[in-house]
Amino acid sequence: MEQFQMLIGGKRVDAVSGKTFESENPYTREPWATVPDGSAADVDLAVQAARDALNGEWGSMTGFTRARLLRKLGDLIEVHAERLGRMEVNDSGKLYLETVGQAKGLSAWYHYFAGLADKVEGRQIPGPTSDFLIYTRREPVGVVAAITPWNSPLLLLSVKLAPALAAGCTVVVKPSEHSPTATLAFAELFEEAGFPPGVLNVVTGISRETGAALAAHPGVDRVGFTGSTETGRSVAKAAAGNLNKATLELGGKSPQVVFPDADLDAAANGIVAGVFAASGQSCIAGTRLIAHVDIHDELVERIVEKARRIRQGDPHDVNSQMGPMANKVQYEKVMHYLGIAKDEGATAACGGGQNPELGGYFIEPTLLTGVTKDSTVVREEVFGPVLAALTFTDEDEAVALANDTEFGLGGGVWTNDIGRAHRVAARIQAGTVWVNTYRLFAPSAPFGGVKQSGIGRENGIHAIDEYTEEKTIWVNVSGVNRDPFAFVAPKVEAKAQG
Ligand code: NAD
Repeated sequence: MEQFQMLIGGKRVDAVSGKTFESENPYTREPWATVPDGSAADVDLAVQAARDALNGEWGSMTGFTRARLLRKLGDLIEVHAERLGRMEVNDSGKLYLETVGQAKGLSAWYHYFAGLADKVEGRQIPGPTSDFLIYTRREPVGVVAAITPWNSPLLLLSVKLAPALAAGCTVVVKPSEHSPTATLAFAELFEEAGFPPGVLNVVTGISRETGAALAAHPGVDRVGFTGSTETGRSVAKAAAGNLNKATLELGGKSPQVVFPDADLDAAANGIVAGVFAASGQSCIAGTRLIAHVDIHDELVERIVEKARRIRQGDPHDVNSQMGPMANKVQYEKVMHYLGIAKDEGATAACGGGQNPELGGYFIEPTLLTGVTKDSTVVREEVFGPVLAALTFTDEDEAVALANDTEFGLGGGVWTNDIGRAHRVAARIQAGTVWVNTYRLFAPSAPFGGVKQSGIGRENGIHAIDEYTEEKTIWVNVSGVNRDPFAFVAPKVEAKAQG
């Protein structure tokens, strides 16, 4: 068993209570690591350490210095990507090929936001008289709470952490109880990169109360949360209790709309990758296939043929294409939804349950037909390798079906008609729409949801604004001593032209 410690104020520490919990490897179904079981007392210490760092050396560093540290961190991540990726595999059963690839790609987030750290600029504001110099400063919002889920823990942390650090904030992160280890190992790189103690702090805990204590902490100034819509609502309420802003990246039920003029082989590939990658445990999984009635049967056939060839197996094996579900709770949840789908009359064109050869938490890639827009599996987020197929006859019906959901995270459009591609992309209610491709993500491209899929955007140059506050400064440059009791109405000095 490997043993991990939390990072608070630059020190590796156990929980105040001395308690630990075990992280289970979902492939072997054996515990492989022990992790501190932190609680509200540990959250208090971490928030205080983050505040102290803000008031210390870090708070007086320039954006140029922060940029240099962020670049160094990005370089170190590349060096340690293999180790970090393996930890994610052990914690969540995600494929080694994907976790290591993702870990290597993380450096791009730190390099991208390093490029912005020395460009956080204020403005000089024109005033109604020339008696005052008015300008703004963009200052770090303060201590940021980052709460992350078990799928892609380091990527979903980095989309918060990189802009927060670029802006000059300090951060307390609470990773998921199901995948805590990679975040703990990642935090160890901070000292080597040269960050002062307390800039990043990590608290782990098995209870959901640990995350709740962080979201509601009065010492926190801003909350960044990725997780389920239900938990997101609690986090939003907790943040609002302190009048804090919160960015919420929540669940999805994304449509894949396929028109009859599409390249069906490319569409089948994109749909298979979009829903079965990460065993469907991805917020942007394209889980609703909305296919034109004329090509529905052929497309289903192609998807089934590709899905049946997917190699499920040991996630550390580079030949595996799909691993197990990330944990017992998630396995049981997906099996429960498959049971409901059967009871509601759906037919499994492929898959439909546990992989009979591998057992454990392995669920076969599943395509369900015979569903309606009201079927439970079409309305609710399953978070597993389950695709449900609907048909349409015209563009309006396709758009109506795509938007007939409480979620609005992503969507795919497959067509070779350029006008239709842009028209439908504009009409789909979602934070991101991919055309003739799917599941792409970059530090420069804003990402987030509409409707019940979230509030706010991560990534892109404006992400840094989320972690700054604009302060306005008025300077009296008139040289005149004013009567303290005379109210001077603003007057516009310049005479109207013409
Ligand atoms: P979850 O909501 O159960 O947990 C997320 C995190 O919140 C965990 O760290 C958890 O310990 C913590 N938490 C639990 N209760 C809390 C509370 N009351 N206050 C504060 N924190 C609390 O989600 P999960 O099961 O870990 O992840 C799966 C969900 O995440 C899916 O719904 C998925 O769609 C969503 N997700 C969204 C995105 C996105 O970018 N939109 C990305 C990945 C995952």
